[in-house]
Amino acid sequence: MAEMTTARYPMQPCLNCDYQMDAATPAENDEESEPKEGSVALCMRCGYAMIYGQPPELRFRRPTAEERKDIDQDPVIRRARAVLFLQRKGMLK
Ligand SMILES: [Zn+2]
Repeated sequence: MAEMTTARYPMQPCLNCDYQMDAATPAENDEESEPKEGSVALCMRCGYAMIYGQPPELRFRRPTAEERKDIDQDPVIRRARAVLFLQRKGMLK
């Protein structure tokens, strides 16, 4: 059986808007697409940033004030949020 390259994770809701997220959607622009503890997850619907918890569940938790500061200054996340915003406005497909 061929190896699957897409990792699957238990469905879990966005802590802000309850949007169900079941795939790895790393906001960080790095080589590895596999989320790990401490990685930032960005809700594809509302743009809320969460932190992956401990494996294997990788359950989201809210970022601490400190983490949120870093997240808000991260250029990759800022760009991802800008894209989300434009998508929601119907300005991007
Ligand atoms: Zn959300």
